[in-house]
Amino acid sequence: MTQTTDVDRAYDLDRAHVFHSWSAQGSLDPMVVSRAEGSHVWDDGGNRYLDFTSQLVFTNLGHQHPAIVAAIREQAETLCTVAPQHANAARSEAARLIASHTPGDLNRVFFTNGGADANEHAIRMARLHTGRQKVLSTYRSYHGGTQLAVNATGDPRRWPNDTASTGTVHFFGPYLYRSAFHAVTEEEESQRALEHLEQVITLEGASTIAAVLLEPIPGTAGIMLPPPGYLRGVRDLCDRHGIVLIADEVMAGFGRAGRWFAIEHGGVVPDLLTFAKGVNSGYVPMGGVAISDEIHATFTDRVYPGGLTYSGHPLACAAAVATIRAMEEDRVVEHAAALGREVFGPELHAVAEKHEWVGEVRGTGVFWALEMVRDRGTREPLAPYAGDSPEMGAILAACKRRGLLPLASNNRIHLVPPLTSTSEEVREGIGILDTALGEAHGEFM
Ligand code: PLP
Repeated sequence: MTQTTDVDRAYDLDRAHVFHSWSAQGSLDPMVVSRAEGSHVWDDGGNRYLDFTSQLVFTNLGHQHPAIVAAIREQAETLCTVAPQHANAARSEAARLIASHTPGDLNRVFFTNGGADANEHAIRMARLHTGRQKVLSTYRSYHGGTQLAVNATGDPRRWPNDTASTGTVHFFGPYLYRSAFHAVTEEEESQRALEHLEQVITLEGASTIAAVLLEPIPGTAGIMLPPPGYLRGVRDLCDRHGIVLIADEVMAGFGRAGRWFAIEHGGVVPDLLTFAKGVNSGYVPMGGVAISDEIHATFTDRVYPGGLTYSGHPLACAAAVATIRAMEEDRVVEHAAALGREVFGPELHAVAEKHEWVGEVRGTGVFWALEMVRDRGTREPLAPYAGDSPEMGAILAACKRRGLLPLASNNRIHLVPPLTSTSEEVREGIGILDTALGEAHGEFM
């Protein structure tokens, strides 16, 4: 009884007072999450769901991880907060642990409150380091909701925010399934995407370009794994033209792609690497920029003109320390890689064989997408770019009825549960998806 009353009150107060992200407020009907544990969440009616969203792809170690909760509690009892100009044990240790896993010489960490401001600061550092202004980023990308980050974004969320005044220029990244280059092999896609980027650099003027900002594996845009050689080629172009390479690892980093950082799949080291989400499983807001020695040296004697009140907040840092230690001790990254190889890959390909709406299966680690199409021959998307469709709605509703929360984006279903999910949980979720696809397809026959 009390439970129902609390849930009703939470819902009513939300509708009365909470303004939600990326939404027309009038039509919202949010699910009240009353409880969460491990790979599951419970709704207002006490129904349990397998959380294949990791919320917004951040609860990498699942919900209510005891070591992270304990670390936050302990930090709160010891020293809840401290200003960024002071040193603090939780922050120092978090920075050390992060730097111990970032590739190459990304040895310094600037902490932010989330992913968007991490990208804002990375761009600011690149601009000050190079003395140039432009930022090149890909179509089909997401870099955050703040003004510069959303202008660098290459998805429809940019459109209503695009002031076209911030020196952001977009190019096509590799995406063989819908190749902008009429490529039919990975080699062609890689080579032509690099030739295209080179042309963009030439035509924009290399001497005006501060940075190339890219997600080593674009996340929200569709989990498109870059073909072999692409990231190496981008690194070479940046080196040749004195351009800073910023890897946005906000979604793909911290084990999601079966490596500590997704860029490791390409075997290259960026100059700046941005992170958030998985760094502390999103238990307390935090993001950051990992900085190379060379860029760090730019600010040895020169003031870095930027900062945040909560940069390196002790509660967030304590959560990061506990998260990273748990990842090391429990070999979470290795587990994520094995789940991808042994469970997601084979099981999702088997699902694709059975359902003609599945156009392509893509992914690695615990980072997978099904690209849904009306027709495998024409590859017409099952929902238009920047839109949804009754068919996609039916799939999601069928999943939810059967106890699975997947993440949908346009014509794709993203399967991104916690990295700590067991293979049984992953099999169970994919089994539900399989049934839901059949059910939804039946509605349109
Ligand atoms: N970059 C990428 C790749 C993301 O996926 C996101 C969020 O989804 C962001 C940046 C923005 O992060 P935040 O929402 O913490 O500002």
